[in-house]
Amino acid sequence: MSTGRVIAQVDCNAFYCSCEAVFEPRLWTMPLVVLSNNDGVVIALNTAAKALGIKRGESFFKVSRLIKTAGLQVRSSNYALYGDMSARVMATLKTLSPTVEIYSIDEAFLCLSAIPEASRTEYARHICATVRQFMGIPLSLGIAKTKTLAKAANYFAKQYPQLDGVLDLTGSAQQQEFLQALPVSSVWGIGPRWGQVLADEGVDNALKLRDLSDFWVRKRLGVVGLRTVLELRGMSCLPLEQCPRPRKSVCVSRSFGRPVQQLTELKEAVATFTAKAATKLRREHLATGALTVFVRSSKFKENFFSASANCRLLTASNYTPTLLKHSLALVDKLWRKDVKFAKAGILLTRLTDENTLQLNLFGKWDLSDDRPTKLMRAIDKSNLFYQQGRLRFAAEGMQRGWQTRAQYRSNRWTTCWEELPVVRV
Ligand SMILES: [Mg+2]
Repeated sequence: MSTGRVIAQVDCNAFYCSCEAVFEPRLWTMPLVVLSNNDGVVIALNTAAKALGIKRGESFFKVSRLIKTAGLQVRSSNYALYGDMSARVMATLKTLSPTVEIYSIDEAFLCLSAIPEASRTEYARHICATVRQFMGIPLSLGIAKTKTLAKAANYFAKQYPQLDGVLDLTGSAQQQEFLQALPVSSVWGIGPRWGQVLADEGVDNALKLRDLSDFWVRKRLGVVGLRTVLELRGMSCLPLEQCPRPRKSVCVSRSFGRPVQQLTELKEAVATFTAKAATKLRREHLATGALTVFVRSSKFKENFFSASANCRLLTASNYTPTLLKHSLALVDKLWRKDVKFAKAGILLTRLTDENTLQLNLFGKWDLSDDRPTKLMRAIDKSNLFYQQGRLRFAAEGMQRGWQTRAQYRSNRWTTCWEELPVVRV
């Protein structure tokens, strides 16, 4: 018997790898890893790659020999592709449930309360089949009365092929057995650090965690931990959030493909990140009131150097030339002749709505002058249509030899005209 709310947690299986395989179907059956920015470490891998003993987080140079010996396929991360595929998956999910909380690029929570219990699993399979048919992306789905239990259900939906990607734990008599089989550090919200604290106390699975006393949990894990425990008992403490929380900051940072030792190059890079961050602001109708630029050398070399500098804007802005003026001045402050820079980035904070700007007493304001806004809109529109960065500020540079390594990047199949898939019949 189940009454009340029913939540499904949807997770795209090996999402980055699946996105790659949709456009290169031979990859479905080959071992495949996707690398982090700058081709540093493995951030995603499919089942066949796991079978080779590769782990997430392993550095690329350690597994690169498997390219020759085991036919390992390697791709640089292609966020243009993953972001677009994610948006399509989420849009499809929204046609299948009245309430969808987008939790991450490949995860969402849905409300399935309106589906009768008897047909729930069937409906969940229909969701998987629809996304598979429309986007080619395989999903798994865990169903329960709380988010934490739905996550737990999904853990098993993924693990056991006989479940066919769906596990409904709402009325399940075996809920206890499943929780007993779930390692405590795999409980949503617990993680490795608390997992270790709990394991040291002999609490090594989700069932033992569920049955701890409230007092003990509160004392050791705080109110956040208690919430997790209550959720495991079927008491919902984490509501479905349909509106994304307002953004607090925008950050754009990259590791360089090679060490940067010239001021002009460091400026080009920071200008590029600034322009990118400004585009993000405008896309969300925000303006920034404070900029931080940060730089560092390689963590693996001697004389590690890391520094940041920041400034406040008198009036919040999302106008790229204004932000460039400030960020480039900060680079001058941070520049050191003897440092080989390996990474830089920009962080924008004190974000406000672009339509309700607080003006200051000292500037000259001509509010009827909408040319800056129009110029930015024209640039954004053209870049959206052609390709991000096609139209850019001279400060961003031409040669850009510092650019992040992405030696194995696949095409931006869905977002770039020149890279669309070609079908021959
Ligand atoms: Mg996933």
